[in-house]
Amino acid sequence: MTDAKMPLRAKVASSVSRTAAALSRAAGRGDGSVIGGWIGLKIDPDLLAHLSAGRAIALVSGTNGKTTTTRLTSAAVGVLGRVATNSFGANMPSGHTSALAKAGSTPYAVLEVDEHYLAQVLEATEPHVVALLNLSRDQLDRAKEVAMMAQLWRAALVRHTNVRVVANADDPMVVWAATPPADPARGINPPHVTWFSAGQRWHDDSWVCPECGSTIQRSGDQWWCTGCALRRPEPQWVVEDEGVLDPTGAWHKVSLQLPGKVNLGNAATALAVAAEFGVRPVDAVSRLGIVTSVAGRYAQVDKDGRNIRLLLAKNPASWLEAFDMADDAPTLLSINARDPDGLDTSWLFDVDFAPLRGRQVLITGDRAYDLAVRLDVNDVPFQHVRAFDEAIRSVPPGRLEVIANYTAFQDIRAELDRVI
Ligand SMILES: [Zn+2]
Repeated sequence: MTDAKMPLRAKVASSVSRTAAALSRAAGRGDGSVIGGWIGLKIDPDLLAHLSAGRAIALVSGTNGKTTTTRLTSAAVGVLGRVATNSFGANMPSGHTSALAKAGSTPYAVLEVDEHYLAQVLEATEPHVVALLNLSRDQLDRAKEVAMMAQLWRAALVRHTNVRVVANADDPMVVWAATPPADPARGINPPHVTWFSAGQRWHDDSWVCPECGSTIQRSGDQWWCTGCALRRPEPQWVVEDEGVLDPTGAWHKVSLQLPGKVNLGNAATALAVAAEFGVRPVDAVSRLGIVTSVAGRYAQVDKDGRNIRLLLAKNPASWLEAFDMADDAPTLLSINARDPDGLDTSWLFDVDFAPLRGRQVLITGDRAYDLAVRLDVNDVPFQHVRAFDEAIRSVPPGRLEVIANYTAFQDIRAELDRVI
């Protein structure tokens, strides 16, 4: 909704929200999108709904890949014109509010949504389409959350059966969440779902059927429940070779500046979401290449003849993806266990570090010793370094891959900002 059509309270809230964000930026306190949105919502709790009205919105949610997929989807939908988006990973309602408040009247928005807030944001924004990427545990102490989250998503979709769903056929939890049973007596029809297959490597969080508790079996790409009818739906969008097959069977070569097969999967999702806005893949595909680093992830920095690339790995599933993205080059691993990371590092034993064998491996971070034990058990030789500079001096000129969990990643980014 443009400002002119909004109720007075919403207009004031929207304006104050923009001002607060600008003040926060001016004070050097980040981009201000969270504080601005927070103040706006304090003045008008319905501000997000007001700002969403009249726009065609896509929500992107899941445990992994949502920031990157949001960037790629914004680029793809950008074929139609300017797209509002929460560029800084501010993925809760305050961030969405701020993104829309400063977007002006553009009719399109692509918003990354923290998986815990999906129900609330669906309610407020009444989106045209919602993309469900995956559900895996973020940390060990949240293990039970996967099934609970699937349940919450499912309950939310039952209340929004008009939304178009673009969902991952390879993740049993997502498939179950996206296919609530029809209940004609209560006027409930399952939402329309378009399935994509992005190739999922991590299966450890979904071997028990969310419907009946039986074992899920896998063979090749397929999976099925041994106790009920839940099985992998036939995907309409599929990653194949270096490109994506669309529902008509046409293949589109995808040239990304982002590494790894996982990002090809994110590109397939972006094309599928854009198609729900009427954007043809043939028009969108070339725009995907404009996305380079995403909130510093995949950023490349040159220093002392070393080309340093930063990969964020925040949970077991994303460590496997990072190994896949990393070149066969010297690799620095950094682990912290501060609050945002989860305090328990025993998840390290759920990750197979064998792909690193044969590479020069360096370790650092608050919990480097936990990592050392894990690598030793995994027969991966390593060298401990105390600081990032020491890591740089320890490797030959050329590529240095850096894989770090959340706060370790922030530490290294801050250190790199100081040295360049
Ligand atoms: Zn089952």
